[in-house]
Amino acid sequence: MHILVCGGAGYIGSHMARWLALRDHRVTVLDNLSTGHREAVQWGELVEADLLDRASLDRAFEGRRFDAVMHFCARSLVGESVQDPYAYYAANVSGTLHLLETMRRHGVDRLVFSSTAAVFGHPNSARIDEDHPKQPINPYGASKLMVERILADAAGAYGLRSVALRYFNAAGASPQATIGESHSPETHLIPNVLRAALGTGPALKVFGEDYATPDGTCVRDYVHVDDLAEAHLRALDYLDANAGAHAFNLGNGQGFSVREVIAAAEAVSGRKIPFSIEPRRAGDPAVLVAASDKARAALGWVPAYDRLEPILETALRWHRAQPY
Ligand code: UDP
Repeated sequence: MHILVCGGAGYIGSHMARWLALRDHRVTVLDNLSTGHREAVQWGELVEADLLDRASLDRAFEGRRFDAVMHFCARSLVGESVQDPYAYYAANVSGTLHLLETMRRHGVDRLVFSSTAAVFGHPNSARIDEDHPKQPINPYGASKLMVERILADAAGAYGLRSVALRYFNAAGASPQATIGESHSPETHLIPNVLRAALGTGPALKVFGEDYATPDGTCVRDYVHVDDLAEAHLRALDYLDANAGAHAFNLGNGQGFSVREVIAAAEAVSGRKIPFSIEPRRAGDPAVLVAASDKARAALGWVPAYDRLEPILETALRWHRAQPY
């Protein structure tokens, strides 16, 4: 199949492009390179286009016949979304709407969409399944939930087939270390822990140790980026037999605290990680762990990386090489 990977120059999108190419699919990457990296586009053609520029989107679709779209483009920093919600609703909602309209004009009726655990807001159970109430607590989560709603309406009105995949904490890198996580500024725990270990970044700031968790630090569900890519492939297959709009939560189903991540990173790197305890970061729930039973049952998805250390090893390899 010929797949358009929107946001394919970014962290998860570039891993998707690789995964598709490994399975002999044809890939075209669409990206505006605002946060993505030209160097990350190693599989398929790069088309520079912006979801907020309809003409550039049309040009990307003209003369190319896509079987499906995988949509990773988004602004995704919770704190920034609180400070500048217009930018988030514009990029994530209006931008996606333009993409959907363009797909419709060009007769493309299959979409796999990057959603997020942030659609749930504060969790009211230890493991979050798809029926958990969706009450986002920041514009980022709200913007993704709005798109999920649009997808449901588009299924009814236009017959769009879609799967929204709600990632918990994407982590790790391709084992070859030619692509990986590279944000500026970097706000995510694992890159910050590893850069502190390698001395390529500052000492880690641990945001809060007074949460109602076993060691007082926040607990998250880390899922390897290649496992996410595999779930996308399976979601695409799922759409062959299933019309409508679907959503699945994707995580390992295991929670690790910030302190556990630090300890595991010290074990895999052999380095002591300098850190300080800081106040809580606004908007961080204490625990976010997925119940991915629905994805396992419907997609036959079983994460290959079910332990933290191998995930950290791939990330560490990337941070040692870090070509971009
Ligand atoms: N965190 C931290 N120091 C950092 C980055 C993150 O203590 O430099 C904590 C953060 O407060 C959260 C967890 O690590 O509890 C995971 O944060 P991340 O930003 O990686 O992902 P999120 O869960 O916010 O999507």
